[in-house]
Amino acid sequence: MNTDLEKVILSADEINTRVQEIAIEINQNYEGSVREVILITLLDGAIVFTADLIRHLSVPIRLDCIRVSSYGNSTNPETAPRILGSLKSDVQDKHVLLVDDILDTGNTMKKIVNEVSVQKPASLRTCVFLDKPERRQNNFQADWSGFSIPDEFVVGYGLDYAGRYRELPYLGTLKPEIYSHNT
Ligand code: 5GP
Ligand code: MG
Repeated sequence: MNTDLEKVILSADEINTRVQEIAIEINQNYEGSVREVILITLLDGAIVFTADLIRHLSVPIRLDCIRVSSYGNSTNPETAPRILGSLKSDVQDKHVLLVDDILDTGNTMKKIVNEVSVQKPASLRTCVFLDKPERRQNNFQADWSGFSIPDEFVVGYGLDYAGRYRELPYLGTLKPEIYSHNT
């Protein structure tokens, strides 16, 4: 385990098993009825989850990205998530699957869902690696969610603190002194 971590919450094996289960559910949802899915991943956090997930999908996808920033360099969310950049695909009449790392307040997903909806996709589904239901500020629920976790700030498997720890293959919490030492 990385020495900056206080504890591991999800091991790499647990994560891999669950990612495959979600992929099966997604495949079952689209199989037979949908020719192609436009999978929109929310950078930067969802990059690792997305990379693993898509390699278990049987429905053909086209990948697009939106960069969203909601945390800056702290663990406190800014009031409104910022969308930095736009989609390359025309999603009108297309089947869209939005993928994010974690559903926290729900503000990010709600905002993106609203933005994509106005472009009139044929369908719009959402998939998140993690869910912190205690933190929700709206009634947003993802169609697929990997794990429900308590209200703790987590890093690893794509999730960062001040840009670090995204490469860890497991999920964990940081030692308290890491926050106070951060520059
Ligand atoms: P929301 O808009 O749902 O509050 O925030 C979602 C975003 O906040 C996530 O995509 C993620 O970037 C960030 N976030 C929320 N909780 C955590 C956490 O525990 N760890 C990290 N690294 N990012 C988080
Ligand atoms: Mg994010």
